[in-house]
Amino acid sequence: MNKEKPEKRFKNILLEARKQRRGFFWKFISTRSERVIKNLLPLLARINDLEPQISKLSDTQLAAQTPKFKEKISQGATLEEILPEAFATVREAAKRRVKMRHFDVQILGGIILFQGKITEMATGEGKTLVATLPLYLVGLEGKGAHLVTVNDYLAKRDLEWMGPIYESLGLSVGVIQNNMPTAERQKAYNSDITYGTNNEFGFDYLRDNMAIAAEQRVQGKLRFAIVDEVDSILIDEARTPLIISGPAEESSDKYYRVEKLFPQLKGRIITKTKEETYAKGAGKDIEAGYDYIANEESQTVVLTEEGGTKCEKLLGIKSIYDDPRSEWPHYINQMLRAHNFFKREDEYMVKDDKVLIVDEFTGRLMPGRRWSDGLHQAIEAKEGVKIENENQTLATITFQNYFKLYKRLAGMTGTAFTEAAEFQEIYKLDTVVIPSNKPLIRHYYPDLIYKSESEKYAAIVKEIEELHKQGRPLLVGTPSIEKNEKLSKFLERKGIPHQVLNAKYHEMEAKIIAKAGQKYGVTIATNMAGRGTDIVLGEGIAAMGGLHVVGSERHEARRIDNQLRGRTGRQGDPGSARFYLSLDDDLIRIFGGDRLSGIMDRLPEGQEIQHPLITGAIERAQKRVEGRNFEIRKQLVDFDNVMNEQRTVVYDLRRAILEGEDLTEYIHNLLVEEVESGINRYLNPEVKSGEWDLGELCKWVNLTFQILFTAEEMDERNPNLYKERTKESLSKKVASAYQEKQNRLGKELMSNLERNILLQVIDNRWKSHLYDMDALREGIGLRAYGQHDPVVAYKQESYFLFGQMNDAIREEVINYLFKLELVSEEEKEMLGGRQISFVHSEVGSFDEKILVGEKKRGMPVSPSPTPGTKQAPYHREGEKIGRNEPCPCGSGKKYKNCCGRG
Ligand code: ADP
Ligand code: MG
Repeated sequence: MNKEKPEKRFKNILLEARKQRRGFFWKFISTRSERVIKNLLPLLARINDLEPQISKLSDTQLAAQTPKFKEKISQGATLEEILPEAFATVREAAKRRVKMRHFDVQILGGIILFQGKITEMATGEGKTLVATLPLYLVGLEGKGAHLVTVNDYLAKRDLEWMGPIYESLGLSVGVIQNNMPTAERQKAYNSDITYGTNNEFGFDYLRDNMAIAAEQRVQGKLRFAIVDEVDSILIDEARTPLIISGPAEESSDKYYRVEKLFPQLKGRIITKTKEETYAKGAGKDIEAGYDYIANEESQTVVLTEEGGTKCEKLLGIKSIYDDPRSEWPHYINQMLRAHNFFKREDEYMVKDDKVLIVDEFTGRLMPGRRWSDGLHQAIEAKEGVKIENENQTLATITFQNYFKLYKRLAGMTGTAFTEAAEFQEIYKLDTVVIPSNKPLIRHYYPDLIYKSESEKYAAIVKEIEELHKQGRPLLVGTPSIEKNEKLSKFLERKGIPHQVLNAKYHEMEAKIIAKAGQKYGVTIATNMAGRGTDIVLGEGIAAMGGLHVVGSERHEARRIDNQLRGRTGRQGDPGSARFYLSLDDDLIRIFGGDRLSGIMDRLPEGQEIQHPLITGAIERAQKRVEGRNFEIRKQLVDFDNVMNEQRTVVYDLRRAILEGEDLTEYIHNLLVEEVESGINRYLNPEVKSGEWDLGELCKWVNLTFQILFTAEEMDERNPNLYKERTKESLSKKVASAYQEKQNRLGKELMSNLERNILLQVIDNRWKSHLYDMDALREGIGLRAYGQHDPVVAYKQESYFLFGQMNDAIREEVINYLFKLELVSEEEKEMLGGRQISFVHSEVGSFDEKILVGEKKRGMPVSPSPTPGTKQAPYHREGEKIGRNEPCPCGSGKKYKNCCGRG
């Protein structure tokens, strides 16, 4: 054993760490990373000291380490306690299987990752190998350990490369790829260690939360993730959310068919709800002789029994209520709303064959925005324009929020340092800079600045030409595909052979960029192209100075520049880099300041300048942009958090349902809440008790809960007391009615029914809610002037919308629970599986005469929307996924052949 003090023993690491201090002032003060590293040295010493002993083990004995560790874990040992021996074991397996021995700095990086931090290690330092240490350690628990890469090719490459290490130690490892069938996906996730891309991991999470049966899910718990190229994923891509969307079902035909009914239907328009109430109070049947009642105040339409029969006749179908999936009542309802409440040139305009919404508040047209729930289509049918198919968000999450779901999150990249504050603030992730294994001998030339872009390009081509003549390889970075091609043309004219990479074909480009270090190689690449691929120098190249990197523009963020120049000088190779700029570059134009242009103006044509002052000015400009972008991202997080909380609530509920948790209490609470809300609606505390419409309450009770409830059962002498009592007795009645139904159908069947109804209703309502939230967010954007904090307004309103969604879920679930009867044995059987269909029972299985004026079919199809919210998207129930679309459950089958069957 080595008795030397760790600080002395690893003094090279500390020395190198000191050399890599950045910034003038900080050159004199040890950085936080240095201190962290220093504290880890004793642990590193312990791991190294285990090597002689572990390297003596036979392959079989080495493999036997895994069950030994597992045993220890099951006896309560923590991963921290096992870490030294586990890391030493992985190092030994790597030596034998992949012929690489983890360098000391790689061991340090592995510890940092295990601790749930970000490790910055330069490109080419071997982060792929570093990750094997913590992945193995956490993988021992068998609860999942994910390695996240930026593309499918890298996921597969890393798995194939590192797989032998895990496998020789007896841990299973899998990879998920785009378009992989469910069974394979499940297998990959069931492995101890799983490789895959950020997109796949995120989408699987969403798909799992759309699954309608527990066994369709693939992902399992989110225990530990290491995100490779963590800055790309958590910063550059953080802004774009993952969205699963599907076109709404193509039912335009039905909208047109229903539209034709309108001239034949006779409606009674009621402008004030009171009117309706009085008429009913006076014993008048307001529905007689009418096909529908349209209430302008509440913006609702109710089809009368006569109307229903008429529609059936005109449409030539037996009953519009028979098959709830065909949704006739819904189409009719929207058609009638379109005609009665939406006026052209007022609520909307027709332009170029499109129905455009007019914003209620600003009067502005809102192109692209659509009323939800089929209303827009109904209006399109009314106006005789083409019915557009809607693309609807089914599920969405940002990477930010997805990765925050992991119990422990870690990241690695060559460029994290400049964004350390952001990682800390948004993700609570610490960044530790690990020094390179060998001293870095990369040379950075100062920037060259030209007056115009064309002068700049001429200079770049000249430099390429000169170095190319010597045979020295060049990597030229550009910010876009367009610039790539421009530069490529210049080189063609000069007859310089070169490769162009656009980050389109990951595998092919990886193979090309791997050769970018060979003699005479010239490679033009966008930033993302060939990421993750090591550029090994050809023979004799090191003696020529190594790979030279040319940056054709400085990026908004220093980090991206660092990514580019970090591609040279790997593992102690020599290398150099230079950036070219011009006054036409965005960064300089927008952020450079007048001083810079002042200096440049005095320059003669074709002349460049190169001055540390200018490099400094550019760095300041970059910092300014970085700061601004950080602010933007921070605000997005605020917005996103609102939705995130709601998503958590919904997904938690879904999970409980899918996993078969007992829902008795949940359902009971729904019933109580529904009774309460009904009582408050009909026995409205803001209305004098004398005006309470008891008949309406009774009618509602009958319709909703399928039980008989009469005014005689209520004591009218003491209104308040009576309200409380009514609530109580009604709750009891409802509970026992539910119990009775449960007894009739059997507990198991009822429980299946509950689960299926809940899932279906929650999913549809959540979908509509997502749509509303989108609209809200856009609306808030428009209103983001004045003193209002848009985030606060967004929070308040989305909270309100969420409440509405929950109310709607409750109403709808109860509606179904009480009204649905399973008619055939077949249907009962199907409940055991995952697909069910519902049949409405006829309302009121008791003497109808008691219910004066009650209509069998008079109920609105959808729960009533809030009065006065014409602009609020209106919801509908029922599937909206196209039958030929891939099933959202992730099975890979078409919807009609999978969950949409039947
Ligand atoms: P990074 O992801 O940090 O840019 P990679 O994981 O792609 O780096 O590895 C870069 C190169 O370094 C690879 O060619 C790899 O074989 C080599 N390498 C990494 N670690 C070691 C090691 N411990 N011993 C020898 N070679 C190593
Ligand atoms: Mg890498």
